[in-house]
Amino acid sequence: MRITNKLNLPYGLVKAVSPEPHNKPGEISATTLIQGTKQVILTQRHWADLEDDVSERIWAVFGTAVHALLETEGETDFTEIELKQRVSNITVTGRLDNYDMATGTICDYKNTSVYKIKASWQKGSDGKPYGFPEWKLQGLIYAWLLQKNGLPATKCRFIALLKDHSKTEAERDHAYPQSPVYVYEFAVTKDALEEIERFIRKKVFQYELFSSSEDNMIPECSAEERWQKKDVYAVKKEGRKSAVKLFDTQKEAEERIVELGKGHYLEIRRGESMKCKNYCLCAKFCNFCKENQNQNLASDDDADNVSKAA
Ligand code: SF4
Repeated sequence: MRITNKLNLPYGLVKAVSPEPHNKPGEISATTLIQGTKQVILTQRHWADLEDDVSERIWAVFGTAVHALLETEGETDFTEIELKQRVSNITVTGRLDNYDMATGTICDYKNTSVYKIKASWQKGSDGKPYGFPEWKLQGLIYAWLLQKNGLPATKCRFIALLKDHSKTEAERDHAYPQSPVYVYEFAVTKDALEEIERFIRKKVFQYELFSSSEDNMIPECSAEERWQKKDVYAVKKEGRKSAVKLFDTQKEAEERIVELGKGHYLEIRRGESMKCKNYCLCAKFCNFCKENQNQNLASDDDADNVSKAA
C-alpha cells in the first residue's frame, strides 16, 4: 500500500501508520471475515496499488498505543492471545486483546466515536436497536476459536474508548453517552456459536469460490457490509426546493401525497453505501462502487435530515 504524506508529517508518524497486509497467505482473520468478500479479495489483490494518506490513518496510532498500554496481564487473564482453526483450505485466525480464562470472558478495545454509539441506539426496520452487528460477529468468531481450541468462552465485552467525547455535551444532552468509555457486552450461547460456525463456513466458501474470479465477477458486498443507509421517500411540492416531509416507506409518502393533493409528488432518495463512499480503500477497483456513486438522488436542503432519518 502506498502511503502519501500531504501534510509533510514526520517520518516516525508515517512509519507508525504504514500498514502490512492483514492476512498471511492461506489465512483469514476474524476482522477480515466480517468484511464483504469483494472487499477482502480486492484489497488483497490490489494491495500494492491501494493508497491512503498519513493524516487519514492517524487514529490507527491511537489504537496501537492503547493496545500497547493495556498489555499488562493478571493472574488469569492474558493479552494478545492468538488462535487458529482450519476451515476447508483456509486457516481462520483471531488475536484477542484480553481473555480471562477463569471466567471465559473475551475483551476487546475499540477506539471509536460518539456517533457510533448513538447510531447503535437507533432502531432498525425490525423495531430493535441497531446495536453493534460487526462487533458481535467479531466477538463470536473469537468465542468460536476459543471453543475449537478447547478453551471456555462465556461472555464478550467490547470496551469502546470515545475519542471525541465531550463532557459539556453529556451534561447538556441526556441522549448522549454520559461517559467517554462505553461498554457493550453479551453472553455467548450455544445457539450463537452454532450460528457463527455457519457464518464462518459460508464466508470461507465465498472467499474460496471467488478468489480466482475477475474483479467485476465478484458479487458486491451486502448492504449491511457496505453500511448502506435506508432509502428515504420525500414528499415534494412544485416550486419548493426542500421536501414537505420525509418518510421511511413509499406507502406512507404516497398516502400523504393523496392527502395534500395537486402539486405534490414523490422523490425517492436512495440510501448511500457509506463504506463504499468514504471508507473502502479498494473502492477505485470496485465496479459496484463506480456504477453506484452517482445514483444518490438526495441533493436539496434536506440532505442533513436525510442522513438523520437514516
Ligand atoms: S466499494 Fe463497497 S461493494 Fe466495493 S468492495 Fe468496497 S465495500 Fe464492497
